[in-house]
Amino acid sequence: MPERIFNFSAGPGVLPVEVLEQAAKDIVNFNNKGIGLIEMSHRSKDFIAVADETEALLRELLGVPKNFKVLFLQGGASLQFAMVPMNLLGPGKKGAYLNTGVWAKKAIKEAKLFGEVQVAYTSEASNFNHVPAQSDYKVDDDAEYLYFVSNNTIYGTQFQAFPAAKQMLICDMSSDILSRPFDFSPFGLVFAGAQKNMGPAGCTVVFIREDLLDRSPANLATMLKYKTHADADSMFNTPPTFAIYVIGLVLKWLKKLGGLEAMAKLNRDKADLLYQTIDASSFYRGHAQVGSRSTMNITFNLPTPELEAQFVKEATAQGLDGLKGHRSVGGCRASIYNAFPRQGVEKLVAFMQEFERRNS
Ligand SMILES: *Cc1c(COP(=O)(O)O)cnc(C)c1O
Repeated sequence: MPERIFNFSAGPGVLPVEVLEQAAKDIVNFNNKGIGLIEMSHRSKDFIAVADETEALLRELLGVPKNFKVLFLQGGASLQFAMVPMNLLGPGKKGAYLNTGVWAKKAIKEAKLFGEVQVAYTSEASNFNHVPAQSDYKVDDDAEYLYFVSNNTIYGTQFQAFPAAKQMLICDMSSDILSRPFDFSPFGLVFAGAQKNMGPAGCTVVFIREDLLDRSPANLATMLKYKTHADADSMFNTPPTFAIYVIGLVLKWLKKLGGLEAMAKLNRDKADLLYQTIDASSFYRGHAQVGSRSTMNITFNLPTPELEAQFVKEATAQGLDGLKGHRSVGGCRASIYNAFPRQGVEKLVAFMQEFERRNS
């Protein structure tokens, strides 16, 4: 096998090698049963134990309160943009949104199909280079919830402190769930696509406060009601078994590393290495404002698009893969999720310094 390269992809993102190796074995022969994990019935005792363990580890690591259901759904994070307002809004009901980038905008578009929307803040005029401070917006009193995206994957911005509102919070945590601890109590619903920081594509984890399950309109399609999945322990139909299983392996790995406090510190240290390199240079320019910087996705530009293309090409040749920025920001983006090794960040920093010396 060739040496593994450093994978800076924004998503699907890097996973721990030991998780991949275990999954590779279990695909063929799970628990020495002579049957592969992905060919087992989702209703078998063995798979139900897998799903139960994944849920238990999520609850333990994230400190999920007892009055929240944990759902394993399909349709990606993007389906949640619609399921949230389908289940929680309706004619005359309003949702408040903080528009901090493409993923928030897509959620706003869906919400408008099902109810009223207050866009309480937008950072679009500055190409989403920051997230708002509490004093920058006011949520309408009659809004049902305040929706925000904790980490804006494309722009490299992240809420350092979560919004405070008298309404419940709803959050898309697709790209920073499990990267740091947080308090569930102000939230009504949290969701995250697995493929950035939790596991493979194909599963979206939804945490929903139980009292919200009865709010859905009666004429909503069965599969689109949270209650359907909550009542059936996410087994109303065939769940994404492989993804649920790999998420479980990732959670065991995380627990062994010391849980979310330890992970947050590792993430902070890795991101600091890159931000210090950017700040010490007049060649690299960070996209995110300092107070909004993400520990997960570090976005930066070089003096010209030509240099950016050259940078990405040379980096790729050295095994630093996936650094091209999203088209809406341009430049470069280093996605350094939980499983991204510090060693890879050190190698990128050395490459950045050397590239600058040669080209400035
Ligand atoms: C990637 C991403 C999404 C979209 O996820 P899909 O599973 O592809 O629908 C939504 N929100 C955020 C914050 C993301 O990073």
